[in-house]
Amino acid sequence: MKKRKAVFLDRDGTIVVDAHFLSSPDQLKLLPNAAKGIRLFKENGYLVIVVTNQSGIARGFFDEGRLILIHKKLISMLKDEGAMIDDIYYCPHLTEGIIEQYKLDCDCRKPKPKMFLDAAKQHNIDLKQSLMIGNSEVDMLAGKNAGCKCVLIEGANQNDKHVFSTAGVAYIVKDLLDAARLFAV
Ligand SMILES: [Zn+2]
Repeated sequence: MKKRKAVFLDRDGTIVVDAHFLSSPDQLKLLPNAAKGIRLFKENGYLVIVVTNQSGIARGFFDEGRLILIHKKLISMLKDEGAMIDDIYYCPHLTEGIIEQYKLDCDCRKPKPKMFLDAAKQHNIDLKQSLMIGNSEVDMLAGKNAGCKCVLIEGANQNDKHVFSTAGVAYIVKDLLDAARLFAV
């Protein structure tokens, strides 16, 4: 079976407004053009996979059940705008966490590539043909570690923006639609 191309998306600051440790479905707010961008990627044959670090779980701010509710709401909000996502991968871990079961140096927390590798296996994805889109240095490093092409969103949404080397970043865009237009045929 022919391998598929995917676009991996960060969640906070890429699809939704980055509320600090978002812990309730009511806090979800789609960023402008996020749904349109996802729609255009789907129209161009990309699998759409969300990869998100959720250390709020290890920190004891919310539990996995709550995160699953948040993601159900996110999927339904996007669906209302005609935008389908294929899967969501999250990392609940943190070495300095306080919840014993999540307090570990895992292989999935971005910039490590395990979420990408798991998705590639489960969805038959060719990582070399795939993209990682996010708004942080960690996202860009994770995409690079997974062997994807990296696209940086430099939106108005970054409060704690710090300067980092954009070496290895293929494109810098203002939002997901801007990104999707670059790869639309
Ligand atoms: Zn992890």
